[in-house]
Amino acid sequence: MIEDGQYRGGLVPYGYRLEQLGRMNKKNKPVLDLVIDQDEAAIVREIFHLLVNKGYGTVRVTKYLNDKGIKTKRNKGPWRGTAIRALIDNPIYIGHMHMGETLSPKFENLQIIDDDLFARCQEVVKGRATFLKKDMTVPERTDTGSLLSGLLYCKECGAKLYYSHGTSKRKMTDGTIRVYGRESYRCYTKLNHPNGCAGPSSYSAELINDAVLKEIRRFLTVIRDIPQENLLEKAREKHDGVNEVAYRQAEQDYFEAHKQITALEEQAIKALTGENSLDISIVNSMMPKYREKMEQAQRRMEDAKAKMEQEKEQSKEARREIGELVSWAEAFDDAEPETRRMIIARLVERIDIGADYSISIRFRISMKQYTGDVA
Ligand SMILES: [Zn+2]
Repeated sequence: MIEDGQYRGGLVPYGYRLEQLGRMNKKNKPVLDLVIDQDEAAIVREIFHLLVNKGYGTVRVTKYLNDKGIKTKRNKGPWRGTAIRALIDNPIYIGHMHMGETLSPKFENLQIIDDDLFARCQEVVKGRATFLKKDMTVPERTDTGSLLSGLLYCKECGAKLYYSHGTSKRKMTDGTIRVYGRESYRCYTKLNHPNGCAGPSSYSAELINDAVLKEIRRFLTVIRDIPQENLLEKAREKHDGVNEVAYRQAEQDYFEAHKQITALEEQAIKALTGENSLDISIVNSMMPKYREKMEQAQRRMEDAKAKMEQEKEQSKEARREIGELVSWAEAFDDAEPETRRMIIARLVERIDIGADYSISIRFRISMKQYTGDVA
């Protein structure tokens, strides 16, 4: 059982490795025990130190580790914030193993972080999360900055807004100074010529990101709530059949002209054989007019046909687009930041931000196209 310190399997936490310490199981096979890996343990101590004593956020810690080339346990890509949060949450660092929902008794030989530092770290990281929500400072989410990058414009002067990640220092009640990040969007004009734009010098990135995400979700919800057949029906409705009508009209004109030419030719033959007294020169003079009519009709037919082909292509494209839209609508909420960014870039052409945080989003896809009057 776990009480004897035997490792029960699963992934070995960062800071530890498995070793044969000479113990045998009931079948007299050597068992593996969890032991501290001193190299990794040093990194664990550093992570706790950075978070608690240096005021680092989890994202900054990942950057620090990645910049130093420190590998993750299984060397699967770079360190991520989720890995850091899981790490500082793992009671193994104070010597307790997970036993289902409960914890094992303390194994002193497995403790890397002292109880006090471990508790403070939890407090600091979780406390920071609540603090941030309240004050709209978001050092945790540096990925949000690029979420809307290149899409935001200042409504006051039309210039692009750029993302800025500043920091501010706060004195905590215990006297320690902690550094917080504040993400914002700033107007280019305002930056270079403070009098060149009447808008504010900075917008809270979190407020804008949240408001934009809300609008995008609303857009996607509308899409999601329309049955897909209706969407496809709408896509088909875009074709008013004008080209089909034009094609049939041209075809009729073509056959009409063809019939008249045939009739004229018959008359010409009869004139030649003396069956009628029609002057052949009159027939010949009428011929070019009908030939021209026929050729014209033929050109109109080809033209209408090409347009019909084009419509067919567009309809195929619209169907593909609808399929994509629906899958985005379904995936968006649970999507990784990368995927979200891709979806937003594909959905949104530009976003204008007003002084009062008014937000106008221009979508690449018109809702009217699919929904009629909705949105
Ligand atoms: Zn501006």
